[in-house]
Formats: sequence, C-alpha cells, structure tokens
Amino acid sequence: MTGSVIVRTGHEVVDDRIVHNDHAISWEEADKRAGFRLDRRKSWAFIPDTDNLGEPELCSMVTFSLSCCDCTDEDPYRAGAKGWGCSACGYTGRSRQCYFVPHIHAGDPA
Ligand SMILES: [Zn+2]
Repeated sequence: MTGSVIVRTGHEVVDDRIVHNDHAISWEEADKRAGFRLDRRKSWAFIPDTDNLGEPELCSMVTFSLSCCDCTDEDPYRAGAKGWGCSACGYTGRSRQCYFVPHIHAGDPA
C-alpha cells in the first residue's frame, strides 16, 4: 500500500453520517510540519488538537481485522475469532478496520 498524508480540519454530519474534512498535502509540507521525514509507505494524518486534550496532532493509520459483528456473537477481539459469514463481511467472517492513532516519534536511532 502506498502511503498518503492528509490534514483533517474537522467534520460535518451529513445524513447522520460523519464526513471528515480531509485534504491532501505534499510530503514536503508534511515533513516540515512533523519535524522529521515521514515514512512514505504509511498513511498519515495531521489532526489538530482542537479540544486541547494535549494529543499530538500527527497520527498514523493502523489497520487490523476482527470478526464480523453481524455474524457472530462471540468477543470480536478474541484472537482468531471469526463469524460464519454474511453479506456485510463478504462471507469472510472478518471485517477490516482502520483508525488513525496518535503517533509518538521515537527519534532517529542513535
Ligand atoms: Zn459477517
């Protein structure tokens, strides 16, 4: 997967769905904003801490899968959990998730 970088400036609710106001920025602009060179293979987002929670604004995307909640009753976070398959999960029993999580930069190795 090729990486990308966006700035999320907020969201609006359209037809009861959250639509994020994202716009793409260049890698050069993103590197400058982050203060270090971003990994081109990852997906990044700058999400300003508008609520002043002290969260870092740089986030990177994590993707994982868990069992499809439409076709199983068991704990979806149990490793290896799998539904029996339905139209929502394309009959795989698993559903893909992706989230932006705050990125903590460990700095360059010494
Ligand atoms: Zn399913």
